Amino acid sequence: MGMLVTLEFADAGVKTGSHRVFVLQRNAGLTESGDIGLTLAEGKQLLECVQHEFVAAQGEEIVARARTCPRCGRRLAMKDVERRRVHTLFGRVALSATRWISCDCDGSCRRAFSPLRGWLSRSNNELSYQAARWGSAYSYRAAAAILQELLPVDWRFGHVRIREAVLEAGSRLEKEPELPTIPEFRPFGSMDAPATMAFDGGYARRVRKGRPRNFEILTGVIQKHKKIKVFATAYPNRVALPDRLRRFAASAGVLNDTFVNVMTDGAGSLLRLKTMLPMKTRFVLDYFHIAMKLRHIDQSVGRIPPCRLSPGGSIFELCDRSNYLRAYVWTGRRDKFEESFHTMLQLFDRAKALLPDDADAATVALGHVCDLWGYLQTNAAGVVNYQAWKLSGQRISSSGVEGTVSHLIGRRLGKGQHMCRTKRGAHLLLQVRCALLNNELLTVFRRWHWEVGSYRAALPWEWRP
Ligand SMILES: [Zn+2]
Repeated sequence: MGMLVTLEFADAGVKTGSHRVFVLQRNAGLTESGDIGLTLAEGKQLLECVQHEFVAAQGEEIVARARTCPRCGRRLAMKDVERRRVHTLFGRVALSATRWISCDCDGSCRRAFSPLRGWLSRSNNELSYQAARWGSAYSYRAAAAILQELLPVDWRFGHVRIREAVLEAGSRLEKEPELPTIPEFRPFGSMDAPATMAFDGGYARRVRKGRPRNFEILTGVIQKHKKIKVFATAYPNRVALPDRLRRFAASAGVLNDTFVNVMTDGAGSLLRLKTMLPMKTRFVLDYFHIAMKLRHIDQSVGRIPPCRLSPGGSIFELCDRSNYLRAYVWTGRRDKFEESFHTMLQLFDRAKALLPDDADAATVALGHVCDLWGYLQTNAAGVVNYQAWKLSGQRISSSGVEGTVSHLIGRRLGKGQHMCRTKRGAHLLLQVRCALLNNELLTVFRRWHWEVGSYRAALPWEWRP
């Protein structure tokens, strides 16, 4: 069989009638099972043909409309015809752009002008959006390969163009005064549990040789229930950071007078963020980091053989004590911490004396206990009753942030990517990547170009005679 694909222009100004574009051939005698439907190559070519005819008709209509002078209605003379090319999502289209000579009825000089100027850019908006979208999720080369593999994007639209599209989208995102509020992130009501913000830092490799080899990337997350909204910047020390944080918080519905819990691992560098946040904050020490330290204690205590350490005590007293300690930390019993720590230190001393063979294990365990003690002392203000918080449905751990950071930075910017970047390039890429993860890239893109992602196909019977 053979199928002739014909295009018929319904209401296209200049182009009318039907145009034969494509013949699809199948030999019934040569097909085997499974050989049904179009192949990817045929589908791509079909799309490319339709796109070519569509863009040509669009261009001709615009040129024809500009031919009559809007003031006196005179028909303008032709200057020349230029060949113009534009990259689209469905192929690189070459079209002839006629230039007219302007009318002198308003007293101005006659000069040549092209009606398509401003309408034709190097690539169309739909392609720019897809390039920014895929370029922020995968490496620029991989993104170019995906677009060229599955869509009839021209081979000349390679990784350099993808990078340009990502950086342009990033710098426009930067200039947006406010980010869209996502429906799931309605303004937090007073009845709701307060939102939790968490921050973490990461590093990306710098392109220039010499020191420093890396630059810092700050990532933040606003969590509410299971919803997460991310934020990232490569300029954590700039004056602009408070403004960025305000914009980010506002887009998640956290306004300036809202109460927010800021969860950190207690590192001083992240604590300074608290002063930059515009809303009322409460510092909460992340339970994830405490739990890791408790685990180290458990493991090292487990290496000390059970033994009666105090008169009248159980032979598992050390294990029991470390479980008590865990419970006191979990329930935020600060009055009991100190007592429990001192008891444990005494028990370790006695273990060292009684079990000289395992003195090393006791010393290691002692070190871990002192480490936790110091950590809790330094960050005493952030220790809360984690049990009660958990029961009331609030977050107690920033493990979600760690995951987000590895998703944001690790996969695209750092580890295993063997890529170096400029600080600005990384920053702009992160803006697009965050917008993509927050599900707001298309919304923002449609502010700039409303037609991107729209569906404007009319039903056939609306224009059929
Ligand atoms: Zn005129």
